[in-house]
Amino acid sequence: PPVLAIVGRPNVGKSALVNRILGRREAVVEDKPGITRDRVSYRADWNGRPFTLVDTGGWEHDALGIDASVAQQAEIAVDLSDAVLFVVDALVGATASDERVVKMLRGSGKPVLLVANKIDDAHLEPEAHALWSLGLGEPHPVSALHGRGVADLLDAAMKVLPEKSAVADDEFTGPRRVALIGRPNVGKSSLLNKATGTNRAVVNELAGTTRDPIDEQVEIAGRIWRFVDTAGIRKRMHRVEGADFYASLRTAAALERSEVAVVLFDVSDEISEADIRIVQLALDSGRALVLAFNKWDILNDERRIYLEKEIERDLAHVDWAPRVNISAATGRHLEKLVPALELALESWDTRIPTGKLNAFLQELQASTPHPIRGGKQPRILFGTQAASRPPKFVLFATGFIEAGYRRFIIRKLRETYGFEGSPIEIGVRVRE
Ligand code: GDP
Repeated sequence: PPVLAIVGRPNVGKSALVNRILGRREAVVEDKPGITRDRVSYRADWNGRPFTLVDTGGWEHDALGIDASVAQQAEIAVDLSDAVLFVVDALVGATASDERVVKMLRGSGKPVLLVANKIDDAHLEPEAHALWSLGLGEPHPVSALHGRGVADLLDAAMKVLPEKSAVADDEFTGPRRVALIGRPNVGKSSLLNKATGTNRAVVNELAGTTRDPIDEQVEIAGRIWRFVDTAGIRKRMHRVEGADFYASLRTAAALERSEVAVVLFDVSDEISEADIRIVQLALDSGRALVLAFNKWDILNDERRIYLEKEIERDLAHVDWAPRVNISAATGRHLEKLVPALELALESWDTRIPTGKLNAFLQELQASTPHPIRGGKQPRILFGTQAASRPPKFVLFATGFIEAGYRRFIIRKLRETYGFEGSPIEIGVRVRE
């Protein structure tokens, strides 16, 4: 579905508007700037039309000056959305910081609707009219808190949102989508440059505006791949405080648009907490996963031994992900990325037929039954694969299946079916 982003200074009422649009009663509105919410986007619909709502309210960060924050969030939001709701507190009027963001929004080529918030009743409407001066067209007066004007605003938003999103395509058709992620300086842009430079890169401009493409298609070893949010990689974050935070935000957004994540590591440097956090973002996203160890050209023997130890210690939880050792600088083994990506995606796509799965579950329980708890032994009666991408299994059981046994099932699933490079989810329903 098309993507609608909500942008604005802290405290203008973005969260209230998000809650109103999502139809949430328990409005999680706090009158304090800098509250970090963890979700980036939500599914929403208006009059039966689905869209994705991107809430930048959670992007505010104490470490940043407010101006830098709003400008950056707006920039990212514009890249990743089809249309923008720019929210202004009509009772305060436009501030200097608002004006800077407006300039960027106007140059973006994306449709922008100006939302004049806090117009709680009709006699406040002149305050909204004053915002014509921003040059974003007609202000839409709303009261996010009370709901006034929000229906009209959404009607207007549906008119400017395209039928088909230019930035998001959850059907995942066409070349497979890769998110190239990793902390700053691990070599993401070098890898991209090498791949687009040495391969007969198709590199046509995709999504975003043509002036500002956000994805690139690259041919590696005879196959075309779509690298998502290359704009985020090529643009590089400025070295401002809080850049890490924006990098994670961008990473989460890129993951959402991808099918497989390549987490890039710099082997000349220790595996750090930042690396682990990025692996976690990839895991949380449920995407297929490949680990790429870059700068192999400058790895010496001493460091190599440490690296192996670090991998054992810090990446044991993703020992199912294919690993490739590469050098973006020399181009070494870049072509090995392809089979790794293919393997991970194949696992991610896998569907196990119900008959086979149940034979597997019976056999597994016959050889290793669930431990007896409180005099009872929970049994799995039946299982089915409820989803792929990533594979998700639902098990119907006579009692609570404990975490250790679930992990055991996952391990056995991997031993039996591979699933290399794909996370596996298991849900249990207890039948009395
Ligand atoms: P990004 O922040 O992840 O995009 O990292 P860059 O691609 O900008 O790379 C950061 C630095 O590492 C640059 O100085 C690159 O030249 C260097 N670099 C990247 N890949 C390699 C590699 O494979 N080997 C070596 N020796 N240096 C590399």
